[in-house]
Amino acid sequence: MKKLVCDRCGLELTEPEDIGMAYDGQYAWEAAATARGIQPRGIIPCKHYIRCGGEVRIVADNGFFWWRRWTARLFSR
Ligand SMILES: [Zn+2]
Repeated sequence: MKKLVCDRCGLELTEPEDIGMAYDGQYAWEAAATARGIQPRGIIPCKHYIRCGGEVRIVADNGFFWWRRWTARLFSR
C-alpha cells in the first residue's frame, strides 16, 4: 500500500481524485522545477507549498506513521 504525503507538513493525499491529479500534474511539476534549476524531491508541490515548501512524495504506508507524527509535532510549534 502506497500513499502520497508531503515531506514537510505531512499532508496526505488519500482521495482517488487527489491521487489522480497528482499523477497528472507530476510532469508539469518536473518541468517547472527543472526550468527553475531545482531537482524535484517529490512528484508534485504540496497544496500548502507557499506555507510549508514541501513536495508530495510517494511513500510506503507502513513504518511511516511515527515519522509523520514526529514531524507534525515539530512543525506545529
Ligand atoms: Zn506540505
